[in-house]
Amino acid sequence: MAQSPTPAAGRGYLAIPGPSVMPEAVLNAMHRAAPNIYAGELPDMMPGLVADLRRVARTDGHVAIYIANGHGVWEAALANVVAPGDKVLVLATGFFGHGWAGMATALGAEVEVMDFGKAARVDPGRLAERLKADASHEIKAVLAVHVDTSSSIRNDMTAVRSAMDGAGHPALLMADCIASLGCDVFEMDVWGVDVMVTGCQKGLMVPPGMGFVFFNDKAAEVRAAMKRVSRYWDWTPRANPQGFSEYWNGTAPTHHVYGLRAALDLIHAEGMEAVWARHATLARAVWAACDVWAQGGPLRLNVPDPDWRSHAVTSLHLKAPQATALRAWTERELGLTLGIGLGMVEAQDPAWHGFFRLGHMGHINGHMILGLLGGIEAGMRALDIPHDSGGLSAAAEIIAGR
Ligand SMILES: *Cc1c(COP(=O)(O)O)cnc(C)c1O
Repeated sequence: MAQSPTPAAGRGYLAIPGPSVMPEAVLNAMHRAAPNIYAGELPDMMPGLVADLRRVARTDGHVAIYIANGHGVWEAALANVVAPGDKVLVLATGFFGHGWAGMATALGAEVEVMDFGKAARVDPGRLAERLKADASHEIKAVLAVHVDTSSSIRNDMTAVRSAMDGAGHPALLMADCIASLGCDVFEMDVWGVDVMVTGCQKGLMVPPGMGFVFFNDKAAEVRAAMKRVSRYWDWTPRANPQGFSEYWNGTAPTHHVYGLRAALDLIHAEGMEAVWARHATLARAVWAACDVWAQGGPLRLNVPDPDWRSHAVTSLHLKAPQATALRAWTERELGLTLGIGLGMVEAQDPAWHGFFRLGHMGHINGHMILGLLGGIEAGMRALDIPHDSGGLSAAAEIIAGR
C-alpha cells in the first residue's frame, strides 16, 4: 500500500465525530464570489433559513445564530440566563458535560456537577432527589448534554424533563445537542427543552464556524429579568432582528450562510424521520461489527446498553497502545482518519492510547460505513489485534435490512 501520510489515490475519509464530512452540495454552494450583505439574495435567505433550522430542532421557539463554535454557544446560552452567583446543576456523562460546567464556572456561576460516569446515562431518580432537596429553588438551570461525544452516551431528555416536573422544580432545562442534532432523534418542544445549543459542523454538515441557540418563551422571560447580558452574546436582537446585520451583530459569515442553506435543503429533502432512521441503521451496523470483533479480542464498545448509545458517534476501547496504532495505520495506509479518545490528560496518560472514536454523523451512507468498518478490520489484521472475523458480514446484514 501507499507509504505517503495520506494515500494519493482515492478519497480520504475523515471519520471523526466532528467536524464531519461535507457534502459536495455544501462545498459548491460556498464556492462563489463575495456576496452583497446589504441587499439581495443573502439577506432574503434568512427567514427561510430560520424556519428550516427550527424544523431540524422541532421547535416553534426562537433561534439566535452566532459566528462561533460549540464553546461559543455554550457561553452564549449561559450569558443570557445565568448571572454571576446564580446556581446551575450540570448532569455530566462525559468530557463535554464537564466542559460546559467549566464554562459556567468561568462565567461566575455557582456550579454543581452530578457525575454519572463515562458509560451510564443520567439517572433520573438521583436528579429528582437532588431537585426535591432544593426546596427554595436556588438552582436556576439544569444543564444536560444530549449526546456526550466523548463517551457516546445518549441521554434520555424526556426522563430528565420528567424528573424536573416530578420534583415540581422551575429550573430551565438546557441541552447541548452539538453532536446529536440532525443525527439522533430530538424534539425540543415535545420534550420540554427550554434552551438548546448546537453547532454547524456535525450533523449539519457545514464547516465549523456557526452556532445556534434555540430558546422558548420561558427562557426569554428569564433573559428579560437579567440585570445585564453581554451585548455580543445577547440573543434578543439576533432572534428578533430589525435588519440583516442584527442577526450577526456585525458582518455575516456570508459563505457559511450559503453552505447552511444547501445543508438544510439536503436534510429536509430527505426528511427528518428518514435522516434519523439512516443514522440509526448505520449506527447499528457499526455496533454489529464491533460485537463480533469483541468476541475474539480486546475491542469493546464503551456503552454496554444499545438503548443508551448515540447514533452519531461510537466510543471504543482497545488495549493501549493499540488504538493509537490503529488510527495511525488506517490514516497512513487507507486515508481513513479515526477519532481520538477524549476526556483524559491526552498523551500523558498511557491508557489514552487504548481509546478511539468513530464519527458517523451527517453526510454518511452504507458504503462509507462499510468502508470505515472494513478499514478497521484491515488495520486489526495488519497490527495483529485479535478479533473474531465476520464483523463486516454482520454490518452488511444490518445494512441489507435483515
Ligand atoms: C463538539 C462538541 C462540543 C464542542 O464544540 P466545538 O465546536 O469544538 O467548540 C461541545 N459539546 C458536544 C456534545 C460536542 O459534540
